[in-house]
Formats: sequence, C-alpha cells, structure tokens
Amino acid sequence: MAEKEGMRSDAGLKKSSADRSRSDIIGRIAVLTSHFTPMAPEKEAALAATPSDAPTIFDKIINKEIPSIVVYEDDKVLAFRDIAPQAPVHVLIIPKIRDGLTGLSKAEGRHCEILGRLLYTAKLIAKQEGLDEGFRIVINDGPKGCQSVYHLHVHLLGGRQLNWPPG
Ligand code: AMP
Repeated sequence: MAEKEGMRSDAGLKKSSADRSRSDIIGRIAVLTSHFTPMAPEKEAALAATPSDAPTIFDKIINKEIPSIVVYEDDKVLAFRDIAPQAPVHVLIIPKIRDGLTGLSKAEGRHCEILGRLLYTAKLIAKQEGLDEGFRIVINDGPKGCQSVYHLHVHLLGGRQLNWPPG
C-alpha cells in the first residue's frame, strides 16, 4: 500500500514537472509572440499620453461638454460607459473633483474618503448592471500601468468570463 502510495506520489511529481515545463513553454511562446503582435490601441494611447495635471477629456464629460452614457451620478462621483469597452459592461467611475488625483500613485491621506467612495460606487453599479456572478475593478497607473487619461478612474469590467493573469 505504502509502495502504491509512493508510486502515486511519484507519478504526481512527474505530472507536475511536465505541467511546469508545459507552462514554461507557453510562457516563452507568449513572450515571443508579444514581440510580433501589433500593439493594442489602448496601449498605444497610454504610451502616447504624458503624465500631467492638465485638464483631461473627463473634465469635458463632467461638465457635459461632450456626450457620455452616464450610469451613475451623485455630488462626488460620476460613472459612465467606456467609449472602447473591453467587456460587455465597462464603466469608468471618477471623482468629479480631481483634487490632485491624476492617478492612484498621487493619493494622499485626504483622499481616503473619495477612494473608498469610488470602490463602493463600483459595487453599486455592478449590482445595477446585474454582475451578480462577478466583475473586475482595474486602476491603471502611469505609462507602465497603461494609463492614458490622467484623472483617476476605476474601470468596472464584467458581463463575460474574465481571464487571469491580465496582460
Ligand atoms: P486608462 O487607459 O486606464 O487611462 O483608461 C482611460 C479610458 O478612458 C480608456 O478605457 C478609454 O477608452 C476611455 N475613454 C477615453 N475617452 C473617453 C470618452 N470620451 N468617453 C468614454 N470613455 C473614454
């Protein structure tokens, strides 16, 4: 019996090392193909954007100078559908007053309340959008984080099976 168990665990070991080399190969292929696949427009936009505290397109959305599909609004927060949705539900949740929050990396103690409020709003919208089986929250920060608009925003994504790890 002990021998059998030993055999079983050996077999298990062999399988997991085969799994490891398979995922190693898949990882190498992913790195190689990333050199040949064209850059996603979102990544291109993020790399073209300069981190700055200049007004952004979101100010125009807040001031209703350009149209957006608003899904939630209160005195502090505005949420609207992303113009280039990456999932059936893709909503951006932003503070109406930026107060230095060009990105999450600029957060200070005084921002704790608005940061919590943005996340809580995301939860409310997820419920409103019927994302009962799950959703994802994303905050891109800086060029390496693929941020293209320098007004803090929370992405709420859902309505399909999301993959992990992200790109
Ligand atoms: P990020 O790349 O994290 O900075 O996200 C910025 C997001 O803003 C992107 O997903 C864009 O598609 C979105 N976006 C840019 N302009 C608009 C707009 N006028 N209305 C709605 N979403 C926008």
